[in-house]
Amino acid sequence: MSEASTGRERIVVLLGHPLGHSLSPLLHNASFRAQNLPFVYRPHPVPPEDLGSAIRKLKDAGFAGANVTVPHKRSILQYLDAVSDIVTAVGAANTLVWKPGPSGGELYGDNTDVGGFLATLQNSPWIEMPCVILGSGGAARAVAYGILTSTSAPFVTVAARNPDRVQSLVGSLSNYDGGGRLRALDIADAGPSIRDAGLIVNATPVGMHPRVDASPWPRPSDFHPGQLAYDLIYNPSETRFMREAQRAGAQTMSGLEMLIQQAALSYRQWTGTPMNIEAARTALNP
Ligand code: NAP
Repeated sequence: MSEASTGRERIVVLLGHPLGHSLSPLLHNASFRAQNLPFVYRPHPVPPEDLGSAIRKLKDAGFAGANVTVPHKRSILQYLDAVSDIVTAVGAANTLVWKPGPSGGELYGDNTDVGGFLATLQNSPWIEMPCVILGSGGAARAVAYGILTSTSAPFVTVAARNPDRVQSLVGSLSNYDGGGRLRALDIADAGPSIRDAGLIVNATPVGMHPRVDASPWPRPSDFHPGQLAYDLIYNPSETRFMREAQRAGAQTMSGLEMLIQQAALSYRQWTGTPMNIEAARTALNP
């Protein structure tokens, strides 16, 4: 949906390529409207080779900031003047804030996936339990960093299909490991870790629309009561991974709440105002 504009709003864009259907414009614009804030959020598809020139044009146009998604979360770092400690640790940014100034201004980068994920599990028992993360991409890295730095989970096992990528993820987070809590596994060998885990996070796109019949862990007998099967996918809101875990007695969570919480952390940086979470949630589930 293209948002009506008065031409006086500050613009926030979603930078990615290709940009399929995204829920972010819907939830940010719902909160801007509910709070009568002069901002508008728009999808802005930019192919990798045009990222630098797109950033220059957005600065010239006085944009407020951006969300960054695949494939730019890492390559955007070269255009940033300052970054949060989380971006340094995780090596990826999903939020840009443009602060114009007399000496050229500053483009600041943050990663709100970490805080968004942790916010969904605040005060829950799952974050103190052994954890298995499926996948070794940007989301897996953000979740692993969040759990290592903010919880006392005894083990964090990252299980993925590409041995080089999973080793590189674990190696790059070794500073936060806290004495052997973090380990890498081939996903084919993850059965015993999944059975022992309290928290199992799907950080792969397996099971996402339209390939909803797939599951990153198609062995439901490894799930049991006492576990939380957390799927970062939010479309569909219930995946095969979640359905099978639930049938085996586990609790489940979809990525929708993380989507809202990471958005709220970005929103506050652009506007200085806490997001109207209820307006955002209602826009997603009218
Ligand atoms: P990414 O960087 O592309 O990483 C995807 C990971 O999944 C890689 O490790 C990839 O392995 C693995 N993978 C892909 N297909 C697989 C398969 N068939 N079997 C096993 N592993 C497979 O993507 P990302 O940014 O981390 O995102 C991952 C998921 O999290 C997506 O569904 C995304 O929508 C979701 N997400 C949700 C939120 C939220 O707010 N809810 C935020 C961020 C991400 P290879 O490296 O071997 O290809």
